[in-house]
Amino acid sequence: MPKNEASLSPHVLIFPLPLQGPVNCMLKLAELFSLRRIRTTFLNTHHIHHRLLDCTDNHTYFTRYPLLRFDTVPDGLPEGNPRTGDQIPNLLNSMDAVAVPIFRQMVTSGGPYGPDSENPVTCIIADGIFTFAAEIAAEIGVPLLYFDTISPCGLWTYLCLPKLIEAGEVPFKDDNLDEIIINAPGMEGIIRRRDLPSFCRTKDLNDRIIQLVLKEDKHIPLAQGLIFNTFQELESPILSQLLNISPNIYAVGPLHAHLKARVESLTGPEFRPETSTNSIWKEDKSCISWLDAQASKSVIFVSIGSLAVMTKEQLFEIWYGLVNSGSKFLWVRRPGSVIGADAELEIPLELSEGTKERGFIVKWAPQEEVLGHPAIGGFLTHSGWNSTLESIVEGKPMICWPYFVDQQVNSRYVGEVWKLGLDMKDTCDRAVVEKMIREVMVLKKDEFLETAAKMAELAKSSVAEGGSSFLDFDRLVEDVKTMKI
Ligand code: UDP
Repeated sequence: MPKNEASLSPHVLIFPLPLQGPVNCMLKLAELFSLRRIRTTFLNTHHIHHRLLDCTDNHTYFTRYPLLRFDTVPDGLPEGNPRTGDQIPNLLNSMDAVAVPIFRQMVTSGGPYGPDSENPVTCIIADGIFTFAAEIAAEIGVPLLYFDTISPCGLWTYLCLPKLIEAGEVPFKDDNLDEIIINAPGMEGIIRRRDLPSFCRTKDLNDRIIQLVLKEDKHIPLAQGLIFNTFQELESPILSQLLNISPNIYAVGPLHAHLKARVESLTGPEFRPETSTNSIWKEDKSCISWLDAQASKSVIFVSIGSLAVMTKEQLFEIWYGLVNSGSKFLWVRRPGSVIGADAELEIPLELSEGTKERGFIVKWAPQEEVLGHPAIGGFLTHSGWNSTLESIVEGKPMICWPYFVDQQVNSRYVGEVWKLGLDMKDTCDRAVVEKMIREVMVLKKDEFLETAAKMAELAKSSVAEGGSSFLDFDRLVEDVKTMKI
């Protein structure tokens, strides 16, 4: 493209929080932009970028879309350091110190995406947690959109936090976690203390995460709009509340289904990219052949995502619950996900026998494919937002065992509002695990599957041509092309 043509055409720079969940869905957004012929730069940290490269069969992944480019910044942490859930504050501190100045240099005059470059950025899409993006975008005079990759219902509780603190609802005055929360408009009668994000359980309001969250209602309105990985039919009451903080909302999810639908709709001789899972762990596909040999809806899938961890005691409670439930199970046991269990575990005979008979364990699964497999009948999940949406699209009922951030809110909505499963939060007891699996997989199987199938239909319709997410993405594309600060 000649220089003047390139410098006039829209160029979106997407900067995700460098963790599996946000990278996964923001990269899908980048792929959707590329399919609409919008030049897109995806800014990864070195760490994430190398892991993405390592986990894909070959590098065609990165040349699949001619208009999608990758660039990288260091996250500032030594390579061997963990980047697990409890390390997020460290990661953010180190990004502030190391990545942010480099990012600023990239987009200002003299930088590769600065106004006088051959490739000036015309719109920045940053993770909603990146407060620095509002300042930098204003400084360089480029429109900014925030993409909050957590659930809108989760984000709404974050945004209500100042009010909850002012009203004395947070920190909690006593240990009664069943007390109903009053000052979260639109969630009346739904949310109890235990359903608020995990960080609300602190007594210390100076906690780094609380302090970060308290800034959300200040920087989000500075952006030209707010993108969500959700669909209107799932969360319209909450999206209406969010319009009070950002009048320009784009609900374009579920993004994995959205991308799949667009790729499938491509016809003719033009390129038809394979959709990918954007995984930063190597997927063990052997579980698919195992699933192929199982009866329809007979297997419960168990996974706690990329960041959550459990204790050894919790591992054994879940394990006994699975084995005692009598159901077949496919279990993702991510290395490092069981605290202090890197050495060989001593496994009781009944568990090893039960697992041999009915279970299959992998380190990392092709989760979207697994959830879409006919043998899967339910999902024991940590209620991460991507996992929740992936389960919804495939019509699979959930048993929710949330770990942190928005997951406590998501699991409440799954159980109480959407009736798509059971919320097991704050318990990890073999008898409860067994009982809930029996309920979802046997006793109330038809009821749950029916509700889940209806929601799956709504999700798929939203990303089909003319659906709510399809139209919101269309509006997003048009706005990105014309948006001015
Ligand atoms: N995932 C996967 N294989 C696994 C476990 C998880 O591909 O074995 C993917 C999953 O499909 C989802 C992401 O990892 O897209 C996890 O994101 P989520 O928001 O659910 O949870 P987080 O990891 O951020 O806590």
